[in-house]
Amino acid sequence: MELIVKEARKVWIPNHPTHGYRPGQVDDNADEGDHLLVIDIEGKKFQVPKAEALAVDPACLTGVDDLLTLGDFNEPALLHNIRVRYEEDKIYTGIGTPILISVNPYQNIEGLYSVERMREYKRFAAKAPSQAGGGLPIHLYSVADAAYRAMLQEKASQSIIISGESGAGKTEATKRMLAYLAELQSSKPHDLGQRTRSVESQVLDANPVLEAFGNAKTVRNDNSSRFGKFIEVEFDANGKLLSAQISNYLLEKCRIVTQQPEERNYHIFYQLCAAAKKGADLPAGLQLHAAEDFEYSKVCPTISGVDDVAEFAAVLECMVSLGFSQEERDTIFRVIAAVLHLGEAQFTPCPREGQDGISVANDSSVSLSCELLGLPLEQMQDVLEHKTLEDPLTRKIIHMQDAASASFTRHSMAKVIYARLFDWLVWRINESICNKGLQKDVRKIGLLDIYGFEVFEWNSFEQLCINFANEKLQQHFNMHMFTLEQRLYTSEGITWDHIQYQNNQHIIDTLERKPLGLFCLIDSECLMRSATDATLLSKIQNSYKNSNVISKASRFATTEFKVSHYAGDVVYSVDTFLEKNTDKLHADVVALFKESKLELVKKLFTDPRFSPEAKPAGGPRPLRRQTTRNMDDQRRERQNVTVSMMFREQLDRLVEDLNKTNPRYVRCIKPNALKQPNELDSLDVLRQLRCAGMLEAIRIRRAGYAVRRPFKEFFSRFRVLAPHLVAAGSDPDYRSLCQRLVTEVEERVCKQGVALEEKSWQMGQTRVFMKEEL
Ligand code: ATP
Ligand code: MG
Repeated sequence: MELIVKEARKVWIPNHPTHGYRPGQVDDNADEGDHLLVIDIEGKKFQVPKAEALAVDPACLTGVDDLLTLGDFNEPALLHNIRVRYEEDKIYTGIGTPILISVNPYQNIEGLYSVERMREYKRFAAKAPSQAGGGLPIHLYSVADAAYRAMLQEKASQSIIISGESGAGKTEATKRMLAYLAELQSSKPHDLGQRTRSVESQVLDANPVLEAFGNAKTVRNDNSSRFGKFIEVEFDANGKLLSAQISNYLLEKCRIVTQQPEERNYHIFYQLCAAAKKGADLPAGLQLHAAEDFEYSKVCPTISGVDDVAEFAAVLECMVSLGFSQEERDTIFRVIAAVLHLGEAQFTPCPREGQDGISVANDSSVSLSCELLGLPLEQMQDVLEHKTLEDPLTRKIIHMQDAASASFTRHSMAKVIYARLFDWLVWRINESICNKGLQKDVRKIGLLDIYGFEVFEWNSFEQLCINFANEKLQQHFNMHMFTLEQRLYTSEGITWDHIQYQNNQHIIDTLERKPLGLFCLIDSECLMRSATDATLLSKIQNSYKNSNVISKASRFATTEFKVSHYAGDVVYSVDTFLEKNTDKLHADVVALFKESKLELVKKLFTDPRFSPEAKPAGGPRPLRRQTTRNMDDQRRERQNVTVSMMFREQLDRLVEDLNKTNPRYVRCIKPNALKQPNELDSLDVLRQLRCAGMLEAIRIRRAGYAVRRPFKEFFSRFRVLAPHLVAAGSDPDYRSLCQRLVTEVEERVCKQGVALEEKSWQMGQTRVFMKEEL
């Protein structure tokens, strides 16, 4: 490698303070022993250990569309490429066919998503179906197109896994790819059946509805998705879009009752208030006023540049297009208004029989919520004022609730009704867009828009679940990259049995293994009557004394523990872990909601598809694969099902489904924390690339042969090392020229006393494969 480095004269400066990696010029005159003296473009000098110096491929300096064309794919090349391309508004960079890196431009790039652009990709691909994208620059459209063509040619399902941190552009990317798949249908004949709108437009209409109820403004993103989703689009053997099915994961519930400064509740609350104020045609009796007047929506009532009234009209239109009846829409809005009014309830102290008690008898918000939800007022008052406890001998004891516990009950009512409404919405949308007939020969393209790895200042149970999901997806990614490497080596006739790479199985085991994994430990603690977050922490500390995955956060940590994830260490606080994992509704609350006069509300507490408490026996069963979180455990004993159990079960099924597909990956990157265009924070981008598993992808590649170049290209780049070799004639035999060149260099290196690893290079069918050290 040293020979190559000297020749290249430009090497990467690692750990560059502002750029992460930066190309620099080697100063040949300086003799720094084990180090090279390297000068960056601003004239700053750096010492780079010779053993670690990576040569800069000149092609990388101007940026390439596909990083694998570089020959040596490494982290500095990856970062620098993304950087120089971003400066030219080229936000997409490919890593071979399976990976597209997308950097959020935070501005509209003219024409990037025009219908004309879509048609260009469609036209090119139609001309050269074997070569997706048909030579056009890499784009989300080329990824969607490649998936579609592969589905038809290989007669196999495909998936596109979109990941990245909040605000990186996952949801935008998902929408663009869905729009492209819908556009591919424009040349297909449509059934002139009963449906007034085509399935593909209904699939697109599902998004605004899901976003209204499942997205919110956060400090990171004005339209942050607070749930994960997997959209499977189904096609027949001729590529005609038949239907789609959406699965949702882990909606953030605490947002419904409390928000951080500058953050909002789910969009629909503000949209409904704004529409009511403008006199929209809404069901009678909602009694809504400005969002800033409600406890649940007062923190940040508006988003600059967003017109909630117009958004509401658009959502309503999509609901109509999806076939939501007037009654369904009215009930949904009644529930939303009821949640807002529940947040207003006041709990007046009213001591009775020597106990702290409260009274809600005169609270108009409580009666209004009851009215809107179709609940019996007396029973509601009873549930808020009293609590039925069961003593060990199962004799019931009635307790008075104090203001704090009544408020807690009220918040849990608001959370559960909203979260179940969301599950119902997804189910209801699926009812419209799912193909219920048993169509044979169906293939799917699945689009997964799911939260990326999260590290905040304060990390809780939700982050543990999300980061666990990322471990699972990372493992799936590693396996796939590894399989692709093996496939390439086989097709090139290269022996590859020496590839070894570090996978994250041990982390997954430590978290989920039965019966000793962290999640099992949390679950079993949830069953203990006397358990608290503190007892949980002490069990974690005792159980993982010798673990290299779970450890003490610090010597004096009283509420925290640390998990060493593949993407870095995360310190979690156990506060509220047990409550969040149990997420159990008090039996009185369930009994109350079961009494609702509104069919939909009642369904949310009696139908096992939405209600974990409902016994499945005799209840309706989903027509096809279960879709929402609460449908997951129909077969289970329901009493002790925890949130983490359901989430893990859902994840297992997701990974199982993904394993049946040919995956592609869109890795979304957030260029800066300020949501500004034309700004790229290299160090933060590098961190995100590592979280996206790019380092592992590089490692897998480097574990085998890091350098692989087509014969002709290899020869012209390195012939300077053996100038006497000449490519003669009109069709030179580059393969044997390369073979001679590498053999000579190898001999020279050996003469210098350097011991090379066995098989430092191999000749493939079309290119030279070389380990780095040569
Ligand atoms: P979260 O995890 O919070 O849901 P996300 O990754 O889904 O985040 P998006 O909502 O897709 O992020 O994107 C955030 C914002 O960035 C968008 O609302 C939009 O303003 C901008 N944005 C994202 N992608 C693009 C793009 N390709 N072109 C222009 N703007 C974009
Ligand atoms: Mg999103």
